[in-house]
Amino acid sequence: MVMYLEVPFEEKDDAKQMGAKWHITLKKWYVPEGIDPKPFARWFPPKLTIELVPQTCWYSNVRSNVSDKDWDKLRQMTYEKANNTCEVCGGKGTQWPVECHEIWDYDDKQHIQKLVGLIALCPPCHEVKHMGFANTQGRGDIARAHLAKVNDWSEYQTDDYVERCFMKWEHRSQFSWALDITWLEQHGVASVVKDRSVSKLSKNDPKPKPKLRSDS
Ligand SMILES: [Zn+2]
Repeated sequence: MVMYLEVPFEEKDDAKQMGAKWHITLKKWYVPEGIDPKPFARWFPPKLTIELVPQTCWYSNVRSNVSDKDWDKLRQMTYEKANNTCEVCGGKGTQWPVECHEIWDYDDKQHIQKLVGLIALCPPCHEVKHMGFANTQGRGDIARAHLAKVNDWSEYQTDDYVERCFMKWEHRSQFSWALDITWLEQHGVASVVKDRSVSKLSKNDPKPKPKLRSDS
């Protein structure tokens, strides 16, 4: 199996020299099949990651942009596929087992925000994904502790990672993002903002108003 890596730009030559290959479509370095991935361990993606939605993305929440019926359908589909178990840590919440999380891909060259799927997460893992919101709720420390536990990280590693995520978020929040939610259509769901999807956006579209919540 191919192992995808998270290689910082400054370290790409090291990765290449060690035998990593560049996936042109995914824009990711990977360890090709047949090569021992162990020496690449420092670039393995963490089990649990933070996924902050840039402030300038006007669409960050599938739930409020589809009908209740469609959202229920998507949610149930996600929960059943995961057997009502967190797809990251394997745990379950105490009040309810899992929640539905939207996975976005950000093309940092073309500035396209693309919905790539839904995943079932236990409430603590879901809270980590939206660390910006957790902070505004006074729950940042709880979320960091869960992040450290799942990834088996020290406090220093955790703080370093959180800081890097917020730096990336700040950088991405400087740009206007076009939207690609074709994933919804592929799953038989019509979004109420369908007419504003990526194909219809022109360069002259006004910059969207920043949202109050840093992520959702
Ligand atoms: Zn979890």
